Amino acid sequence: MNLDSFGLQGRVAVVTGCNTGLGQGMALALAQAGADIVGVNRSDAADTAAQVHAAGRRYVDLRADLGDSSVLPGLVEQAVAAVGRIDILVNNAGIIRRADAIEFTEQDWDDVIDVNLKTTFFLAQAAARQFMRQGNGASTGGKIINVASMLSFQGGVRVPSYTASKSGVLGLTRLLANEWASSGINVNAIAPGYMDTNNTAALRADPDRNAAILERIPAGRWGVPEDLAGPVVFLASRASDYVHGTTLAVDGGWLAR
Ligand code: NAD
Repeated sequence: MNLDSFGLQGRVAVVTGCNTGLGQGMALALAQAGADIVGVNRSDAADTAAQVHAAGRRYVDLRADLGDSSVLPGLVEQAVAAVGRIDILVNNAGIIRRADAIEFTEQDWDDVIDVNLKTTFFLAQAAARQFMRQGNGASTGGKIINVASMLSFQGGVRVPSYTASKSGVLGLTRLLANEWASSGINVNAIAPGYMDTNNTAALRADPDRNAAILERIPAGRWGVPEDLAGPVVFLASRASDYVHGTTLAVDGGWLAR
């Protein structure tokens, strides 16, 4: 096959929450594959910008609190004003709150659902409207990649709003694929396993939880942001043009146990 179909030259990718962790890893992978990056962050993303520049690509810095859905249509407008078009959206920004379900607060419910699920939907909607305006179709491809979780498939403990949001992301990915596949838009998700980022610092700091998690991962190690490089480039590229509505686990074999 022609490996050029994996290349992203001339594409523009919007990546949310890319100043650290998995978002930073995915932004860098997309840049190394040829895409310019529009990063959407609450705070400084200078480290990511420097790495994207080192890969020879452009980095556009947008700032927003993605817990506020009123900013979402404006974000796509700002991206288009800065770079002329968008081709790829990675809905990565996410938060987690841990507490027993019996005492979980409404605030911890709303905060997590707003960032992880509501923003995922309304930013996807804003991006798809732009793809349709641009006339992206089979020839150029509009690509939406949501970030799911092991808790899209499993229940977990002490993270009720996170499990609800990530289970919702899996279902939403299927629904959006059903509605938009015929418009040449691919909607898929990546479900990272247990990855070494800020999001899991509390788990890794607990020796018992850390040992129990490691013992259960067939690959025998926590994942790292670079583990998402191949999967995100594939789902952002023409190589995945006939892949719709899937949630790809990148989990060291966790779900196979
Ligand atoms: P992280 O905490 O290092 O990064 C989260 C990113 O989201 C940061 O850039 C943060 O600033 C951004 N963000 C959070 N709330 C925001 C808001 N209101 N507005 C703007 N940006 C906001 O964690 P991570 O592990 O890199 O997480 C990235 C994604 O991967 C999340 O959706 C997370 O749920 C998911 N995930 C992580 C793991 C894991 O093991 N680390 C596993 C499965 C899924």
